[in-house]
Order: sequence, then structure tokens, then C-alpha cells
Amino acid sequence: MENVVDNIITLFRERGHSAYGGEAVSQLEHALQAATHAQQKGAAANLIAASLLHDVGHILHELPFDAPDKGIDDLHEELAARFLEKHFGAAVSEPARLHVEAKRYLAATDPGYLELLSPPSIQSLALQGGPMSEEEQVEFRLNPFFADAVQLRIWDDLAKDPEMVTPPIEAFADVLTACLKTSAN
Ligand code: FE
Repeated sequence: MENVVDNIITLFRERGHSAYGGEAVSQLEHALQAATHAQQKGAAANLIAASLLHDVGHILHELPFDAPDKGIDDLHEELAARFLEKHFGAAVSEPARLHVEAKRYLAATDPGYLELLSPPSIQSLALQGGPMSEEEQVEFRLNPFFADAVQLRIWDDLAKDPEMVTPPIEAFADVLTACLKTSAN
């Protein structure tokens, strides 16, 4: 159990250099940028961890990064959440699970949001169900992790900057350790 954080760091070191689905950054850079945005905004440790790990599903599965070009939704948010809930509390796993739903929510409720999305993200939005209906929005707002998921999503969308400088993944080891089920809860 004490090796979970080491294993996550190794996973990103070994598999995080793949392209982040058509974006200008790697999976590792994307994760570090999202976590750094969270940290700079003074987010709680759980939300920093969720930001770092929200896309871990992409490096856990074996589908090619251009799966959306073939009309395949990789359901990476479910994969991430199932992995995360084994080791962390709901405050880490649920915002990760909901980060695609948060995109669908923002696409429906924030008029400027679609303009901020990158082309690959707009392409995957269609596969993910498109903008939320009114009924879906009402239900989503009732989710206890609604606010964290939307916040994570905003950092997620910013985390595609080839110029951004971040700390290395090792700098987040203490945050991850503090969020582990065994030590924190
Ligand atoms: Fe992401």
C-alpha cells in the first residue's frame, strides 16, 4: 500500500510521455499543468490530487490516442475513477469520474466555453454525448462533487500549454500520500 504513490509516479514516468490526444503536450505535462493550476489557486490536497490524476485512465488503457478519430469513446474517466477509488477517497475519485460530465455541463451553460475548447476536445465532446440537457444539468448540480468537478475541468482545459513550466511529478508525492485512504481517512 505504501508503494501506491511510487507506482503512480513510475506509471507517469514510463507511459506519460505519449501525446495527450492530439494536443501540444504529453500526458505527463497535462497532468502536471492541471495540478499546478490547482495548487496555485490554493485548492485542497484532494482536489490537487484529482487534478493530477484525472486523466490517468488514458495511460492505463491500451487504446491508441487517436481513438476518437475512429469514433471510439475510451471512457477514460471511468477507468481513472475505478483505479483512484481503490487508493483514495471520493474527494479524489469523484471529480476525476465527473470531469467529462463537467465538460458537457460547461458546454451547455457557459456561452464562451466551446470557443475555449481545443479541436480534439470538441471532437470528443460529440462522442461523450454533447452538451447536457436541462434535466441533466439539474441532476448534475445535485452531485456533492459538482463544484469540484467543474473547477477541475477548468484547470483541465487550461492544461494544454506547451510553454507552461511546472514542478516535476515527484513534487506532488507528498500531496498524493496525504490523500491515500490509509493515511488520510
Ligand atoms: Fe484532461
